[in-house]
Amino acid sequence: MHVAVVGGGIIGCLTACYLKQLDVDVTLVERGETGRESSWAGAGILCPIHPWLYPDSFTHLIDASLAIYPGFQADIEAKTGISIEWKKSGLLIPFFDDDKIDHWQAAIEWSEKFDWKVEQLNTAETLEHEPSLSSQTQKSLLWPEVGQLRNPRLLRAVRVLMEQLGVTTVEHAEVTSLLKVEDRVSGVACANGRKIEADQVLLAGGSWCGELARQMGFELPVQPVKGQIVLLRGEAGLMHSIVKHDDAYFVPRVDGRILVGASMEYVGFERGTTDEVIGQLMASMARIAPGLKGLEVEQKWMGFRPGSPDGMPFLGPVASMPGLWVASGHYRNGVALAPITAEIMSQWMVGNGPEMDMSTFAVDRPVDNSATVGFPEKVA
Ligand SMILES: Cc1cc2nc3c(=O)[nH]c(=O)nc-3n(C[C@H](O)[C@H](O)[C@H](O)COP(=O)(O)OP(=O)(O)OC[C@H]3O[C@@H](n4cnc5c(N)ncnc54)[C@H](O)[C@@H]3O)c2cc1C
Repeated sequence: MHVAVVGGGIIGCLTACYLKQLDVDVTLVERGETGRESSWAGAGILCPIHPWLYPDSFTHLIDASLAIYPGFQADIEAKTGISIEWKKSGLLIPFFDDDKIDHWQAAIEWSEKFDWKVEQLNTAETLEHEPSLSSQTQKSLLWPEVGQLRNPRLLRAVRVLMEQLGVTTVEHAEVTSLLKVEDRVSGVACANGRKIEADQVLLAGGSWCGELARQMGFELPVQPVKGQIVLLRGEAGLMHSIVKHDDAYFVPRVDGRILVGASMEYVGFERGTTDEVIGQLMASMARIAPGLKGLEVEQKWMGFRPGSPDGMPFLGPVASMPGLWVASGHYRNGVALAPITAEIMSQWMVGNGPEMDMSTFAVDRPVDNSATVGFPEKVA
């Protein structure tokens, strides 16, 4: 069997690897260079932001993916020699008197229900754990098992793995339409005239999948949600866990660098960082973690999250187009969900349907536009 994978982000690249490991011939087609869009830009937090706001089926998918990570990390590092800097740094949510939303009770109930270890810290315990936080912090919740990794390293390792496995990669080729034999999809055609024949096609084009689907004749409500990020040059030990608050999060890396993220902007494909948004992130940082003030800004960047109206990915076959599959719309959780996506999609495409109920993620599901974890409010 030959599969054409459209899109070389973490979802397309990792699924290509998993397919190849099942003895499938794979050609991955990428418009630019592999691993340079959202998957490169993300923060690498291996836990959804406020998971209690999602349906239970989403937690089951996340849990299944996180269970794969330890083995995946060991395997990819052994094969490629590249450390993806996966570590369980923990995640802490501080609570303030003037919080817009009080997540305390819902967070504890969700953690107990799904057996996620959580610790309740008072002010003194919180500040002992994270001395850079504001003295206005009332209390906090700490999930010590939450992990993180460094996206550019992950993508570099996955690219090496693709080469080792013999995935054929075609870069600088934009897929614009499907090839068909009667009603069945039989490959893809690129803007440069190249045609790639395949028995099955997987759309993994991230934020661009909504537009791509329309060109191909079906609806997929995936749209870009822009996120801007600042990288600070800190010292190792300045912050220990990922710290998340409504307005911003901070991700301490092994070498002391601290990532401050991330905006949620519904502005189409408008590239580049803006002083206004970076200023807002820095102001949130000064309020939540004043101990980080004054650190040198080393870099700023942005990426387009493949947003979905209900916050959840679209995974599975396109019922109206035999031979066509989708793995997109991973929104804020594509890195956390990459291993289980690759596992489920590769097995499904070779005929082993998932054991898990996938109806919440079905490509043609009715989507809930009012979900709090879906698209943010439109700007302008
Ligand atoms: C600021 C920010 C912070 C984030 N933080 C986290 C986090 O902490 N944890 C987490 O799990 N997730 C996080 N995410 C989300 C995560 O990065 C994404 O969900 C994930 O990277 C999506 O992967 P993807 O492969 O679907 O998309 P992408 O990485 O965007 O890849 C899609 C690829 O498809 C290619 N493509 C598109 N159209 C075509 C075409 N027509 N032909 C050929 N190629 C095409 C594109 O060029 C691109 O390379 C964050 C994202 C951002 C932007």
